[in-house]
Amino acid sequence: MAESCTNFYRQTEFITSAQNLKQSPPDHGYEIAFVGRSNSGKSSSINSLCDQKSLARTSRTPGRTQLINFFKVDSERRIVDLPGYGYAAVPKDTKMIWQLSLIDYLEFRECLKGVVLVMDIRHPLKENDLQIIKWSNNSSIPVHILLSKTDKINKTEQKSTLDSVSKHIEKSYSQSSVQLFSSLKKWGMQEFQEKMDAWFELNI
Ligand code: GDP
Repeated sequence: MAESCTNFYRQTEFITSAQNLKQSPPDHGYEIAFVGRSNSGKSSSINSLCDQKSLARTSRTPGRTQLINFFKVDSERRIVDLPGYGYAAVPKDTKMIWQLSLIDYLEFRECLKGVVLVMDIRHPLKENDLQIIKWSNNSSIPVHILLSKTDKINKTEQKSTLDSVSKHIEKSYSQSSVQLFSSLKKWGMQEFQEKMDAWFELNI
């Protein structure tokens, strides 16, 4: 059954895009960053959290996704959409810039409270995903994994992927968690929202 989204995240609005940390909004308050391979369902997860159809753009072309996009939830809290990765068509130097801006953001952003890592449940824990978990852990930033598009596979497959990803992260990364999720069916919304609320230190 679909779970409802509280009104709090509905007020979220786009503020600005940045190429690097220098261009980012002042480093205070709370930020939660979303990261994932292209086509993993990252934009859809932001849109469903905020109950808006096109806040974060879905299915964007590679050239337009290389920026860090900032969204204001309230005066103290921001959602940050980090550039997607895994485009075959992206040249090597662009990949390098992606890595540098991401490492920079994860390492130096004081107001970063958590990273939501979106992975298509049918293609979990690819090399770049593992890097994100490692970098975040090195910076003591907790990671919450959304296994997205859960509606595309059956219950047995869902459980087996959830178990294997849980086992993997439990073994190596103390500050990580994982859940099943579907933007399409609104599955897992409550668990996702509770994690966001906790990182934003909201009592709603
Ligand atoms: P992004 O590139 O990671 O931002 O991915 P998008 O959010 O743009 O999603 C990529 C494609 O997957 C789009 O066609 C979405 O409609 C689709 N998609 C996203 N989430 C889901 C989901 O939960 N279930 C299904 N079936 N499709 C999804």
